[in-house]
Amino acid sequence: MQIARFPRLRFAHLPTPLERLDRLTAALGGPTLWIKRDDCTGLGLGGNKTRKLEFLLADAKAQGADTLLTVGAVQSNHARQTAAAAARYGFACDLVLENRIADTDAAYRSSGNVLLDRLYGARLHEFPPGTDIAQALKDTAAAVKARGGRPYVIPGGGSNPVGALGYANFAVELLAQATEMGLRIDHLVHATGSSGTQAGILAGLEGLRAGIPVLGITVRQPREKQEAMVHALAEETAELLGVKGAVARAAVVANSDYVGAGYGVPTAGMLAALKLLAREEGILLDPVYSGKGMDGLIDLVRKGRFRGDENVVFLHTGGQAGLFAYQGALERASNE
Ligand SMILES: *Cc1c(COP(=O)(O)O)cnc(C)c1O
Repeated sequence: MQIARFPRLRFAHLPTPLERLDRLTAALGGPTLWIKRDDCTGLGLGGNKTRKLEFLLADAKAQGADTLLTVGAVQSNHARQTAAAAARYGFACDLVLENRIADTDAAYRSSGNVLLDRLYGARLHEFPPGTDIAQALKDTAAAVKARGGRPYVIPGGGSNPVGALGYANFAVELLAQATEMGLRIDHLVHATGSSGTQAGILAGLEGLRAGIPVLGITVRQPREKQEAMVHALAEETAELLGVKGAVARAAVVANSDYVGAGYGVPTAGMLAALKLLAREEGILLDPVYSGKGMDGLIDLVRKGRFRGDENVVFLHTGGQAGLFAYQGALERASNE
């Protein structure tokens, strides 16, 4: 499983810090909690898509593309990091943005990630809820070609085997860091969406036989569907890495109890988790992913899912630019 075999551009700030959450651990009285700071990957306010983009941009270059084209929700962190990487390497960038949420306000539509996409010079193509987004992506690729561009199409979240290599590499990084610190990691927990993060981590950890269980807290799909998506991509990624069959179906575990009313719709638990991390640790989570992921971790700690002597690592996947898109909900929560 030699990741250096794969073409990669290097722009992420790595390794990201692995820090102990002393005050949160004390507040919950549970296992020792740690946080792996992939919100600090450096590119365009950071986040988990940056690790994937290191491999995807190298592939785009190898294919002679001059335009990065990708797709996501209006407040997509993936779109924002793609726009930043495109700027850094001289690609044009076209973003197909789907409004997945029924009631949005002006901040949701124009602040946060959208503001930054525009600042990076990306072209935004926005579509209403219910659009056939796969078709919209094809049409936009055709439009890029019609204007003389050579598009490289990145799937939503950068979640294909090439992108997932970034998270197989994360597995190697995490193990090296834990070895150096003398830290026995008993569980890894993170928010899972388009599935490339969990799939890459599992291909890496299982390929190395690390023996660290991974729990994905879903932000959109029901558990069964999420686990099937993650498993399929983990298997493809393992095959690409030369460790075909390394990821058993039983190793893929998701929990969909913390989604609430739907993707990107705030929950009371998310808002409470966001406030708790801000006030106990000075750490900012995001409203769509890491806030719901941390809500899940906190609830499971309270329910006794982990033993008191265990070390649980939460992977912070970033997304804080989205805080400014949820100003109304956050102001109400902060005043409570
Ligand atoms: C995209 C994203 C995730 C989910 O990662 P996937 O690889 O899509 O499953 C989690 N957190 C944040 C902040 C994200 O932007």
